[in-house]
Amino acid sequence: MENDLELYNIIGQNIKKRRKSLGITQEKLAELTNYSLSFIANIESRTFQSFSISALNNIAKALNTNMLNLLPQDNKEFIKNKEIKCEYCDYHTEIPIELINLINNIHEITYKKIKLTCPKCNKKIIF
Ligand SMILES: [Zn+2]
Repeated sequence: MENDLELYNIIGQNIKKRRKSLGITQEKLAELTNYSLSFIANIESRTFQSFSISALNNIAKALNTNMLNLLPQDNKEFIKNKEIKCEYCDYHTEIPIELINLINNIHEITYKKIKLTCPKCNKKIIF
């Protein structure tokens, strides 16, 4: 449910951006799609408003675009995990991509290899 809220919000914001870039009002978009103004307004607001794929398709057509362009374009908004494996034992875990990006920033600054200690076998895992 929380992820659904985030997903619908991102799509809603993409619809809003696309609509504004075309200089179309919410009223005009409602007219073009035959949806109510409150439905369009709710989609674009950060209140929870779910909608069907066919509604998304209709809105995309009205905005002269493809509905794929209205879906989240990158995964920055979602916290994604990357799997880390120890090469010596069967230990593996997932750490957030954001943390990896931060570690990579440290790597760039220090030019040193980042080593993690495996919590299971205590050997160094070269990052
Ligand atoms: Zn290990």
